[in-house]
Amino acid sequence: MKPNILLIYTGGTIGMVKDFETGALKPFNFDQLLERIPELHLLDCKINTYSFENPIDSSDMNPTHWKSITQVIQENYETYDGFVVLHGSDTMAYSSSALSFMLKNLSKPVIFTGSQLPIGDLRTDAKENLITAIQIAALQDKQNQPVIQEVGLYFEYKLYRGNRCTKISAEHFNAFTSPNLPHLAESGVHLKIENHLLLPKNKLPLEIVEELDTRVFVLKIFPGINPEILKNILEMPNLRGIVLETFGSGNAPTEPWFLDTLENAIKRGVKVVNVTQCWGGSVDMGKYETGTTLQKIGVVSGHDITTEAAITKLMVLLPQNLSNIEFQQAFETAVCGELTIE
Ligand code: ASP
Repeated sequence: MKPNILLIYTGGTIGMVKDFETGALKPFNFDQLLERIPELHLLDCKINTYSFENPIDSSDMNPTHWKSITQVIQENYETYDGFVVLHGSDTMAYSSSALSFMLKNLSKPVIFTGSQLPIGDLRTDAKENLITAIQIAALQDKQNQPVIQEVGLYFEYKLYRGNRCTKISAEHFNAFTSPNLPHLAESGVHLKIENHLLLPKNKLPLEIVEELDTRVFVLKIFPGINPEILKNILEMPNLRGIVLETFGSGNAPTEPWFLDTLENAIKRGVKVVNVTQCWGGSVDMGKYETGTTLQKIGVVSGHDITTEAAITKLMVLLPQNLSNIEFQQAFETAVCGELTIE
């Protein structure tokens, strides 16, 4: 039996073709995918496509779209062995992070991919990304179980954990990286899977998280941050959670106005998660005094989580109305490999 793969098209550059007369980019009709990319017939799997009615540039992506994607996966979960989500690269790491938290107990591959150049462009990176993403989603072990049982992101020869990556280039085909976790697979002459890095298999039934709280904000601190502006942000009546992007290993100013503003917000119930602005590495609030103070006032460590994963995890956890301690425990526990606790 050949594996059944569902290709879910949400939009993005990958789905565009160039009108050779006008030079303009226009959406590609995904119903004709197999005719337009004959290479797909060579793959050892059956492919069906599902296209969103209004494909979007991923800059317009939001939690409503995430819910629609999870619904399509849920409705087709029994029929298909794997899912490939075609998505614009700009916010792909947010969506792959969000879905990793929204699809609880996932036991089938959900592989995000896209491209820097449209599928109809002569020099496109779309074909390789699409073909290998499908191959990865179709991989099965000797018991016919999917090899990958988590949300991944495939781009330019590498498969990353979906909630570990970040977009690093608007120019290069190698547009993503996973700074704190090596890639899960690499496509060369052979497809090399790093089995020891994959999430353990689970047998529980799939559950969908439907409620996300968007009353959150990412706050990147910088030398010279203005007390009044910070105060105004943190005193917003509806604010429920903040991802605080700090310096180095989780450090922030020690000036009383800064700490008081943060502490008052935490006392009012705002959850504050500390992630580093650094490209790689981890928050360690016990390392410097500047970090210890944050810990004392109730800031939660994001360890080595990406901002993309932190903000989406926050959206998923907030509706659970957890106490500060419960929230800290939940955030600092890896649900699906999104952070490393040393
Ligand atoms: N702006 C596009 C998007 O994210 C870029 C891409 O597809 O790579 O939808």
